[in-house]
Amino acid sequence: MHYVSTRGHAPRLGFEDVTLAGLASDGGLYVPESWPSFSTADIAALRGLSYVDTAVAVMRPFVAGALDDAALKSLCEAAYGRFAHAAVVPLKQLDHRHWLLELFHGPTLAFKDVALQLLGLLFERFLANRDTHLTVIGATSGDTGSAAIDALAGRAKVDIFMLHPKGRVSEVQRRQMTTVLAPNVYNIAIEGSFDDAQAMVKAMFAHQSFAGQFNLSAVNSINWARLMAQIVYYFYSAVQLGSPDRKVAFSVPTGNFGDVFAGYVAARMGLPIERLIVATNVNDILHRALSAGDYSVGSVTPTAAPSMDIQVSSNFERLLFDLHGRDGDALAASMKGFETNKRLQLSQGMRDEAAGLFSSTRVDADRMQLAMRWAYDKAGETIDPHSAIGLAAAQDAMLDPSIPVVTLATAHPAKFGDAVERATGIRPTLPSRIGELFERQERYTILPAEIGAIEGFIADQADKA
Ligand SMILES: *Cc1c(COP(=O)(O)O)cnc(C)c1O
Repeated sequence: MHYVSTRGHAPRLGFEDVTLAGLASDGGLYVPESWPSFSTADIAALRGLSYVDTAVAVMRPFVAGALDDAALKSLCEAAYGRFAHAAVVPLKQLDHRHWLLELFHGPTLAFKDVALQLLGLLFERFLANRDTHLTVIGATSGDTGSAAIDALAGRAKVDIFMLHPKGRVSEVQRRQMTTVLAPNVYNIAIEGSFDDAQAMVKAMFAHQSFAGQFNLSAVNSINWARLMAQIVYYFYSAVQLGSPDRKVAFSVPTGNFGDVFAGYVAARMGLPIERLIVATNVNDILHRALSAGDYSVGSVTPTAAPSMDIQVSSNFERLLFDLHGRDGDALAASMKGFETNKRLQLSQGMRDEAAGLFSSTRVDADRMQLAMRWAYDKAGETIDPHSAIGLAAAQDAMLDPSIPVVTLATAHPAKFGDAVERATGIRPTLPSRIGELFERQERYTILPAEIGAIEGFIADQADKA
């Protein structure tokens, strides 16, 4: 399989190079040159398979030329063997037509583990053949940082430097990062805000001599391999509910459009998906884009579902590429306009095409709380604010009642205990494997929010390696 950039001017690459590159050199995002196609028989053949075997079958065409089945399977066994549930991502029934797909049984209790655990292993394997060393840098307001650190801890030829705003992440979030004592993990608490941290990470990537010298890389969801790993659970859950003989709808709590884009890929591959519901909170750029064609940046309002508090959804570019007929030059012109004007108007043709598969709903705080309470009172399930936004959108969607609707549950409720307690009166408890966090030793470095100090620290540590 080869990959091309959405902006048409980066080299066409194989899976291994795309995984290590992250962003394309023309500023675009890598996508497969064509979508693989699964026949009805191919999908029926997934019945009864374990998560790992489903993963091998679904990802096989995307890694062709880089990994054979045996290699892919051993990576998946290592990645998903660390999940705390035998089903890896169990499907739970809520009522006669609503289901919850629990994606949070990984080591850090966030759905990002599903993709990042595999990505960490892919990095290590692909770097083993090369005379290179990767320096992963990132900024986190909480969840992504811990999932990335857990995935990369102890991996050969990779260092990870994760910046968090000092005193502005919860104690659980901080400890999930700072108690990982592997020698290739560096936690930096900066004396500033999350925006300061993110601005410094961007500045380091833009500082070409520095970025080149240390071979900087990112693990955010612009990396194709992350999206690829997420396609698997759409197939896995749909087959359990009767696919390919029965259509299934999905409701996806959405921020960067990565998770729901994986559902789009599953549909392009032939999985009979009736509808993909894009659920947003009040930060609703995607709802405005899909319902009115208005993709324009507003200001971010903090909510109880912080992983969805986003105003620019980087992976939306991948859908826009297909909506532009896969014309990289046309898309590059549109994105340039968006970067200048902070808005992009989707044509009627693009809106109609997107509406064939996607619908969208904006869920406010009251509706989110109602969904949390409904899940607890009616189905005995405690769900987190992100999952509750997905469930509310699923319940409000106008769908044929014979179609089962799967809501993706993206975080363990105990990660957002305060919000859950406010809605239901019940405080969810952390699983015991995380509870031990409070006894473990922490290690992190406090630095001022100055680019020189951060770069100096990274250079010092890298020299020792
Ligand atoms: C990252 C995240 C999301 C949003 O996923 P995208 O792929 O960015 O759309 C939703 N819920 C939780 C808990 C997350 O961590």
